[in-house]
Amino acid sequence: MIAEARKMLSDGLIVYLGLKDIDLRKYGFGSFNIWHQEQWNMNKTWKEQLAGNFDHPWVFLSTPTLHTKDTSTAPTGRQILEVETLVDYQELKTLQERSYTEYLKRKHQIAEKLLDIVEQKFIPNLRQHIELKVIGTATTNEDFVMAPKGNAYGAALWPNYLKSRLHGTTPFANFFWCNATSGWGGVYGTTNTGMSLYTQLTGDDFCPDITDEQLIAELPTHYPDQF
Ligand SMILES: Cc1cc2nc3c(=O)[nH]c(=O)nc-3n(C[C@H](O)[C@H](O)[C@H](O)COP(=O)(O)OP(=O)(O)OC[C@H]3O[C@@H](n4cnc5c(N)ncnc54)[C@H](O)[C@@H]3O)c2cc1C
Repeated sequence: MIAEARKMLSDGLIVYLGLKDIDLRKYGFGSFNIWHQEQWNMNKTWKEQLAGNFDHPWVFLSTPTLHTKDTSTAPTGRQILEVETLVDYQELKTLQERSYTEYLKRKHQIAEKLLDIVEQKFIPNLRQHIELKVIGTATTNEDFVMAPKGNAYGAALWPNYLKSRLHGTTPFANFFWCNATSGWGGVYGTTNTGMSLYTQLTGDDFCPDITDEQLIAELPTHYPDQF
């Protein structure tokens, strides 16, 4: 599967929805994410999607407005739902280069398929509550943040790439780096590389020197709403 995936470039398509007149909690959502499979064989799912077949896609659902008590994440009374799936970078890139209209059509076609599934399996009449809809793809990541090949989590997480990652220091004098590719993808992984580099450069180890047990015991005090 890895060899096949290397021929394709696994990437993401994400639909950001601003919703009104709905409380997602009533539909089973909360401070967690949902990984929904339309079929049990995940390798089959990835293979189909990377070949452009979205009949039984994987659907990732996240509700940022339910992950925090901070009300500034959305306008009053509104909630956010993110719906994501796997796409092949090259398919969208080729379409975009050939015709922006074709690219937009394909992007919307995949997004609508995802919304069909969300309506069937999670939120009937979801579309009636959509006030804002923004669809991003691998090429959006490339166009707006110059992410090479539209990556979302830095360099591919294949074993060889993980083994040979450059951490804070590089072969170039006075050139340091911290990002998803130097450590682990995602906000946590990226932030961690920044903290490590800070400690490495300054010697200031600002993380509290406490045991896991002490840290766990302190958590409810710091994050009372999460427990
Ligand atoms: C749609 C999407 C959803 C995601 N959801 C989550 C999530 O829910 N949880 C999670 O943990 N992670 C998530 N991630 C992953 C997470 O956002 C990334 O792993 C993280 O932001 C990577 O940080 P970074 O600093 O390495 O790169 P980036 O955040 O991409 O920062 C790189 C910066 O460098 C700039 N840049 C690029 N080239 C140049 C240049 N030549 N000169 C100057 N500036 C340049 C870019 O504009 C950009 O601002 C998501 C990613 C995407 C795309």
